[in-house]
Amino acid sequence: MEASGKRSYRIAVASGKGGTGKTTVALNLAAMFGEPVQLADCDVEEPNINLFLRCDQLVPPEVAMLVPQVDPRHCNGCGACGELCQFRGIVAIGSRALVFPELCHGCGGCALVCPSGAITERPHRIGTVSTGQSGIIRLVEGRLEVGVSLVPPVIRAVREQLLDDLPAILDAPPGTSCPVVATLRECDYLLLVTDPTPFGLHDLKLAVALARELNLACGVVVNRAGEDLVGLHGYCRSENIPILLSLPDDRQIAEVLSRGELVARVFPEYGLMFAELAAKLKQQLAAAGGTP
Ligand code: SF4
Ligand code: SF4
Repeated sequence: MEASGKRSYRIAVASGKGGTGKTTVALNLAAMFGEPVQLADCDVEEPNINLFLRCDQLVPPEVAMLVPQVDPRHCNGCGACGELCQFRGIVAIGSRALVFPELCHGCGGCALVCPSGAITERPHRIGTVSTGQSGIIRLVEGRLEVGVSLVPPVIRAVREQLLDDLPAILDAPPGTSCPVVATLRECDYLLLVTDPTPFGLHDLKLAVALARELNLACGVVVNRAGEDLVGLHGYCRSENIPILLSLPDDRQIAEVLSRGELVARVFPEYGLMFAELAAKLKQQLAAAGGTP
């Protein structure tokens, strides 16, 4: 099952806003995928997939970024480093330069402009990436270090831990900002989860605009679908985006979630719905040019 000559395909699950049930969809889709699959938790500020999978053996390699360190014996306080840094990661005060690693973006520019060679670089831990196995699911979980705000490098590290020969489902952070773009890179398909509210439709439109910009084929899952779906259906039809699954507004789903279980495993009818979603996605990937 390969999207390109070398790598199996990757499906991102995203939503324009939080609280749509995106992670629920990603988890249940992976559980009913019908073949071994990787599930990447790219919501690195609040990873929670393993609360449901309960993988035993997570091995966390560190994600580190190079930040500057200043040798005060060589620093003359010229200020060139601070003038260059747009993030205030290094600031010259008096005759010395101070580094603020939590603000640094690791571009390495300050070391290049330092006229006296006072700046070298050292690794600074910004997160971890863990892996584990639960049935057919190989979990890859990114976790941002507390107090760190640099999300994209940790997501990149998650992507680097994905195996090329297994398909992957990537659970993106909510929204449409840089962390989402970092998740969608190298993905072959974008599954957008929304709810049938005016806010849901508004944020779905933003997410679709992002998919168009990235030239990604996409489909929609409607969660908590009630009767008021006319606007959503009309929009998807006008944009030629398929609605691949509508999940009802069912209290049982919330109850199962609160117990840390997967609705697709507890209720066979939901298991069937997610297995059908997996089959439709594979068809969509084939239509989009992949060869699942
Ligand atoms: S490495 Fe780049 S971001 Fe970090 S302190 Fe230096 S100039 Fe600023
Ligand atoms: S550019 Fe180099 S010498 Fe100048 S303040 Fe920064 S660390 Fe010191």
